[in-house]
Amino acid sequence: MIGFSGIGASPGIAIGPVHLHVSGLPEVSPRRVSDPRAEMAKLARSEELVRARLEGLQDLHGEGSEEAEVIGAHLLLLDDPEFSDEIRMLVESESLCSEAAIHQVTEESAAILESLDDEYLAARAADVRDVGNQLLRSVLGLPLDTWDDLAAPSILVASDFFPSETATLPPGMALGLCTMEGSPTSHIAVFARGMGLPAVVGTDLPELQPGTLMAMDGDTGEVYVDPTQEMLDVLRERQERQNRAEEKAAERTHEPAVTLDGIHIEVAANIGSDEDARRAVERGAEGVGLFRTEFLFLDRTRPISEDEQYEAYRSVLSAFGDHLVVVRTLDVGGDKQVPGIEIGEELNPFLGLRGIRLTLARPELMRTQLRALLRAGTAGQLAIMAPMVAGLADLMDFRTALEEAERSLAGDGLEYATGYQVGIMIEVPSAALVAARLARHVDFFSIGTNDLTQYTLAVDRTNREVAGRADAFDPAVLRLIAETASAAGSSGCWVGVCGAMAGDPLAVPVLIGLGVTELSVAIPSVPTIKERVRELDREACRTLANRCLGAADSSEVRMLLNTV
Ligand code: PEP
Ligand code: MG
Repeated sequence: MIGFSGIGASPGIAIGPVHLHVSGLPEVSPRRVSDPRAEMAKLARSEELVRARLEGLQDLHGEGSEEAEVIGAHLLLLDDPEFSDEIRMLVESESLCSEAAIHQVTEESAAILESLDDEYLAARAADVRDVGNQLLRSVLGLPLDTWDDLAAPSILVASDFFPSETATLPPGMALGLCTMEGSPTSHIAVFARGMGLPAVVGTDLPELQPGTLMAMDGDTGEVYVDPTQEMLDVLRERQERQNRAEEKAAERTHEPAVTLDGIHIEVAANIGSDEDARRAVERGAEGVGLFRTEFLFLDRTRPISEDEQYEAYRSVLSAFGDHLVVVRTLDVGGDKQVPGIEIGEELNPFLGLRGIRLTLARPELMRTQLRALLRAGTAGQLAIMAPMVAGLADLMDFRTALEEAERSLAGDGLEYATGYQVGIMIEVPSAALVAARLARHVDFFSIGTNDLTQYTLAVDRTNREVAGRADAFDPAVLRLIAETASAAGSSGCWVGVCGAMAGDPLAVPVLIGLGVTELSVAIPSVPTIKERVRELDREACRTLANRCLGAADSSEVRMLLNTV
């Protein structure tokens, strides 16, 4: 047996044979062609094949699904003149064969994106390579489906996977995913968590033989090649314990989450589309604690119109009926860029034009979204939330924008919601510190622990080199959560957490103990977080939380929490 440690990217244990997946551009040898026009025709046919396949896949996955969004972005790339014209130019003016032209343009475009040292753009480089790979396979006459040789359920091992590859994975054939590249925020990690597949990324594996037995734990990042019987027994027992706990949680997932001393903690879902809303309802989510609306702005070349936004919000609000749906206004900037919204070059994008700063600077974007939301609000229980609020001025400007949107709807004689809730994300330390002033003007706070941690500890959340320092259990972050919750309590507004910390069973007691009454988590985590709440007593959590606030560091906090 040889053991390796990678980064746990999606929880769960997988045991099974290795399937080695070769992901990457096929090798090509550049050659000159005697008839560039014939070569152009071949290229056009290949593009058509790839387009037809992508459109078919998009239909298969259904509008609004994450896979359909990835595929939509690939369709845009395929038609992007900067990409396709460049390839054509090499064929037409330099008589280069189409496979070499595709290879060259793909590699050059991807390398430029990667050199910008930005995790979001690096992910776009993977998309460019993905589309280039499909085009190449098409002109070389290779099958476009790369899973033909996957004959039995296996652990899929690759240096990385293309998004179109994960989107076409045959159902039931992947036991787990293990990659050499990747970080916990990479595409593959998000995909695996959404599918409930165990995944370990960033593993330094040696060359493996296909079919070798492998075992991996997506919680701890452990990977074992040729595991001993003893190790297999340990992992199988762990796996059975997890399965039993998950089954028990799933049975009761449509019941509310109430602590032993009778306190109802709302367990809601984080969603990005109306398709997610449907899955969240099925999983027992008691509402939406965070609708990341920026997903609606992806895979299109210009911002989504008011009517299209209205339809999307209306469908989510209707799906949840009487349950609250917290919709966050557009949160782009930082590592999130969307086509059609230009933000000039910034040296520190996370400290720049991000979240509400951007929508306040582009009133048309804000107005369109707020009008769509208020119109859709008549279909359910709407809450509107602003991201990246740093202090009172941002909040008051947001309230003014809401009043203006209401006035413009009234002026147009359109029906709109009036009894909606207004809240802000607490993810900038300054907002947590003045929460008492902010609380007078909102119905709720939702704590974004991902950004709150990054800004409190000065750790770029996308930088793999410092990822280990970004620990939301740091007492400094807990103190800001405590400050926020106590300020909210005095003003009668409620407090939720929608950052990844809310979905960590270890964090639940400290959050409840600090006064949080809503946890908004990734859809697959809803049942287990509900079950975790049911095991706890709020009074005991309060005592524990006070001890955590006095801890020296995050290790001491974790030690205290591991005793519950
Ligand atoms: C957060 O910052 O914790 C959060 C939920 O927002 P996002 O991850 O979308 O920035
Ligand atoms: Mg955030």
